[in-house]
Amino acid sequence: MYNFTGITPKVNSSSKKSPREGRYIDHHLPSYNNESFDDILNDKVIQIFQKTLATLESEVLQINTKDYYVYTGLSGLSLLFWNMSLGQEDQNHYRMSKHLYEQSYLLWQQKATRASKKSISTFLEGDIGLQCIGCLISLREEKFEDFREMFNLILGVSNGILNQVGNSSSVSYELLYGVGGYLQGLIFLKKSLNNCVNLEKMADFKVVVVERLNQVITLLVRHIVVKGQEFSLGCQSPSPLMYEWHGSKYIGAAHGLAGIIYMLIEGITLVGTSMDSIEQQFKEEITLIKGTMDFVISCQLASGNFPSRKENQEDRLVQWCHGAPGIITTLTKCYQFFRDDKYLVPCKSASECLWKYGLLSKGVGLCHGISGNAFTFLSIFQKTKNISSLYQAVEFAKSCCSPQIFELLHIPDNPLSLFEGKGGLIWLLHCLIQLKKKWNE
Ligand SMILES: [Zn+2]
Repeated sequence: MYNFTGITPKVNSSSKKSPREGRYIDHHLPSYNNESFDDILNDKVIQIFQKTLATLESEVLQINTKDYYVYTGLSGLSLLFWNMSLGQEDQNHYRMSKHLYEQSYLLWQQKATRASKKSISTFLEGDIGLQCIGCLISLREEKFEDFREMFNLILGVSNGILNQVGNSSSVSYELLYGVGGYLQGLIFLKKSLNNCVNLEKMADFKVVVVERLNQVITLLVRHIVVKGQEFSLGCQSPSPLMYEWHGSKYIGAAHGLAGIIYMLIEGITLVGTSMDSIEQQFKEEITLIKGTMDFVISCQLASGNFPSRKENQEDRLVQWCHGAPGIITTLTKCYQFFRDDKYLVPCKSASECLWKYGLLSKGVGLCHGISGNAFTFLSIFQKTKNISSLYQAVEFAKSCCSPQIFELLHIPDNPLSLFEGKGGLIWLLHCLIQLKKKWNE
């Protein structure tokens, strides 16, 4: 574990009751002071990351759960090791991924997971996550019939969504349980298949796969926009697109506008051949997305954070699912897509809030943990090349490797999982180590 010197961290608490009480570690980490990339990710730091990574990997393989979803279950860890196996002919991580997938597959067949409480199958909280990984593993194993079967199953879900008739108020559009989360699965699949050599071996079916994915992604983007516009008009929302989840109009990443807008932009980018063609094909959608992001930006609080919804101005959560981190990720996406610096202004004040309150006491997962918040800094670095954001990501990652910090963290319900637990930290450390390798190439 990393030896964290010179800092006396403590979980924030004060006699004056604050809404953030107990949620973050008061860290006093040194601010960025013109360190270079090599200063930040120096050999010593990389060694600490590698050592921690090796320990964590064997730990998460001990997971014992009947949950096969990506968010907190076996498919999440299968996805993690799949991602780690890419680009380096890494048989070991691939074997782990396949093993976890096979376990997930059996659970799926037995329907042993918790009873489905939602109508849409999504990438993070539904069968689609497992099925997308199944597609990739079948292709890698050259089991083309299995691939066809799984692919058709995934695309078949779109019929029910696109052909909704009558009252659709029970359908949600957010990422975790809604149509946006189904779109996320198709986007993941399309991006993964773009780099898949074995798809070439399917000759005729390759064309079908690419065309059907493009077609369904396009239809879903339009469908989500139409539904958001209808709902916005119906409730006279100041945002041109609005959605509701469990009766609340959220603006964050997991259940609200930021997550949905991120997927709409990804979908539009993936099916377009050039920026000109995209602007032609999705002219109306792009105008509505821009207007919606203006609304999201207008919700920013004086601290730089964002409330979970406009109606509730409480400045409480600073995590991917609710608050600044998830919205920063969409702001940097907008900056890249619209090539407009205006998105960097709210991003800057939000990232200052994230640095101050983002070392969360809830653990190291991606959803409401330190790794998710470190990834937010990394997303700013990747889109803007702003080295101070890399510094902040690495400081948060180092904190997760420090026993002094780690012992202050609460143990989440699913401590080994990708979105709540150590799986998220493995992904973060792996990405930082890969970043260093690429930088030196
Ligand atoms: Zn969360």
